[in-house]
Amino acid sequence: LRNVNKFYNLGSEKLHVLKSISFNVENGEFISILGPSGSGKSTLMNIIGCMDNLDDGSYILDDKDISTSNDDDLALIRNEKIGFIFQKYHLIPKYSVIQNVMMPLLIRGVSREVSREKALDKLKLVGLEDRIKHKPNELSGGQQQRVAIARALVSSPKVLLADEPTGALDSETGKEVLALFKELNNQGNTIIMITHDKNVASYSDRTISIIDGNIVL
Ligand code: ATP
Ligand code: MG
Repeated sequence: LRNVNKFYNLGSEKLHVLKSISFNVENGEFISILGPSGSGKSTLMNIIGCMDNLDDGSYILDDKDISTSNDDDLALIRNEKIGFIFQKYHLIPKYSVIQNVMMPLLIRGVSREVSREKALDKLKLVGLEDRIKHKPNELSGGQQQRVAIARALVSSPKVLLADEPTGALDSETGKEVLALFKELNNQGNTIIMITHDKNVASYSDRTISIIDGNIVL
């Protein structure tokens, strides 16, 4: 990101939420974005995750300048390059674990057979191969988050983007999920984690702190 600015329109007023934000994330890094409530973390995540456009500045993702992409282009880039992990898992309740993890591939038109194979592979990676027929509500919170991580990984994204991934978990389970992130990072995955919690951020290799829309060193 280079000199990224984001404004929200409030009637005739403009709220300046991201103020000339610049930083690089290299392939294979595990970084966290740390900041208090209202500092602009979700706004920044929406831009990094191609869910919203920036107003000014540039965003280069995977060597391509996507700063001026329209919503349709952003959706394509998002589907191809970003794996999302949310605080509240966002699994589909009526689908089994394996169906949840297969879904991103099925949507892309990958065959059932290949989707199933890849989903199983990722579920093994997160240690849930013995839970594939369970429904999300038959799993613990930590297990549900691991399903969400498998789902995020299944389409081999360039970046894993996690928004408060341990926010809904007790501290022990949260640590397990963070240890899994570390392992996934050791295997080469690039991870950007958003958090308001210094202890959570300490699991990453580098922390970018944001206060009131500014990066602070
Ligand atoms: P939290 O830790 O509470 O999730 P955050 O760091 O994610 O906070 P943001 O959601 O990015 O903060 O919000 C940054 C600022 O932008 C806040 O002052 C918020 O009120 C404002 N804001 C966020 N979304 C909008 C919007 N859609 N329209 C107008 N203002 C917004
Ligand atoms: Mg937020």
